[in-house]
Parts: sequence; C-alpha cells; structure tokens
Amino acid sequence: MIDGIGLICTCLWRQQKGTSRYLNETIAWYEQHYDLNRKPIKRVGGKGDFSMPDKYVHDGRYYVGEAGGLQDFMWGFGMRYAVTSGVLAAKAVLGECDYETEVRKRLVPLVRASAINRFLMNRVGNRGFKMVANHWMRDQRRKGDGLSFMRWMYKPGLLRRLLWPVVRLGMLRRKELADGRMVSRMPFRKSLSRDIWEQSVRAEEIGNEWNQVRKGGGRTSFGESDA
Ligand SMILES: Cc1cc2nc3c(=O)[nH]c(=O)nc-3n(C[C@H](O)[C@H](O)[C@H](O)COP(=O)(O)OP(=O)(O)OC[C@H]3O[C@@H](n4cnc5c(N)ncnc54)[C@H](O)[C@@H]3O)c2cc1C
Repeated sequence: MIDGIGLICTCLWRQQKGTSRYLNETIAWYEQHYDLNRKPIKRVGGKGDFSMPDKYVHDGRYYVGEAGGLQDFMWGFGMRYAVTSGVLAAKAVLGECDYETEVRKRLVPLVRASAINRFLMNRVGNRGFKMVANHWMRDQRRKGDGLSFMRWMYKPGLLRRLLWPVVRLGMLRRKELADGRMVSRMPFRKSLSRDIWEQSVRAEEIGNEWNQVRKGGGRTSFGESDA
C-alpha cells in the first residue's frame, strides 16, 4: 500500500476456468476482515513461467531477470535476481566478468534450491505448508529475525543436492523456446475437482462492481484465457 493505492493479489498454481472468481473471493475476504474503503481502479494479471535454461548467454544475448529464468520457484519472487543479474550483465558487457560463470555461481544454486523447495511443498499439501509457516513464525519470534529460517531453507546442503535429480525428473519438463534455448520448465498443474465452485454472493457483487467500472473506462491487463 503506497499513498492510499494498494494491490490485492491472488496467485493460482493450477489451470483454472473463471479466474476472476478467485480475485473476487479474495477481495470479499479482505472486506470481511479489514476496513478497506476500497475504490477499484484497475485489474492487472499475467501468467508466470518457471523455467531454468541451460544457458544464460545465447546468440550474443545476456538473459537477465524473470525472462532469463531467474525467479524463485517457491514464492515467485524475482526482484533481487533481476537486479543482480542486470548488474552482472552490465559488468560483463564492460568486460569485468563472465556472465554465465557468475550467474551459475551466485544465482543458479538459489533458483535450484527454490525448485527443490517447491517440489517438497507440492508434496506436503496445505497442512504441511501451514506447519512450515507456523514453524517459521515461531523461529522468527525466538530469534527476532525471520530471514534466518529462510536462509536455512535455501542452503543447498546434502539432502537438497541428493534431491535435485529427482526434482528435475519429477517436476520439470524439457522444452525448446522460440529463441532456440533449451529450458527445464515447471508445467502448469491440471485443475482438480475442488476447483469447480460457485462464488459467494458478495464475491459476485464485487465482480459486477468491477464490470461497471470497466464500462466507465477501468482497464484489465489480462483475459480469462491467461490462467
Ligand atoms: C503481484 C506481484 C507481487 C510480487 N512481489 C514480489 C516481492 O515481494 N518480492 C520479489 O522479489 N518479487 C516479487 N514479485 C516478482 C517480481 O515483480 C519479478 O520477479 C520482477 O519484477 C522481475 O523483474 P524483471 O526485470 O525480470 O521483469 P519485469 O519486472 O517483468 O520487467 C520486464 C519489463 O519488460 C517490459 N517488456 C516486456 N516485453 C517487452 C517488449 N517486447 N519490449 C519492451 N519492453 C517489454 C515489461 O513491460 C516490463 O516492464 C511479484 C510479482 C507480482 C506480479
């Protein structure tokens, strides 16, 4: 929230129909729990793609940030990767470092750890995720530092190193991109029977409210087919 403008976001990890109902329901939940006094301005959205390329320099181009496959598989975060890889690419252009080597040394181990974490999290389900989150909160209260647990989560370690071949085979699929790069990609998971549900009355009203805003010129940056 900055200067009274805020963003309410919902992330979908499986293929879905009627994606707006998730956002409508999320807004309804916030309305119930917080005094929002909300005025809708715009709906933005997009499709994330989690891929690890074989190379970070290809055909004379330096691949940086999210488009270069430098993104956290676990949380979708990528700002630090984007800034770090951008700086490294600039240094490489100036002849101060070898981009491919630096990215492999400094960033790829973290992306790999994030993919392993995602693989494990997919297996433990919601209940397991809650247990991990509760443990994280307890750890933060005890140490006064929430990052210490995260640092541990991203340490390559022996277990994660042993798991990597399993993750690569079990979760990632090989794909050739339009520019000729080969990537190991995490495909979208198929929807489940529990993904078929009707919106609550309030969520439907929020959807209709947005349709009215759209008619008045409010914009959306995505279509239902993007999910
Ligand atoms: C709701 C949300 C919350 C997030 N929260 C966090 C967070 O808390 N922490 C975190 O680390 N990450 C977060 N992320 C992820 C983070 O925003 C991205 O990983 C990061 O911005 C990637 O940076 P980038 O420079 O690689 O790509 P982008 O920020 O996507 O920049 C790419 C730019 O290229 C432009 N572009 C695309 N195609 C073309 C073209 N053909 N010609 C010219 N320009 C083009 C785009 O318009 C865009 O401006 C969040 C993402 C979302 C959506």
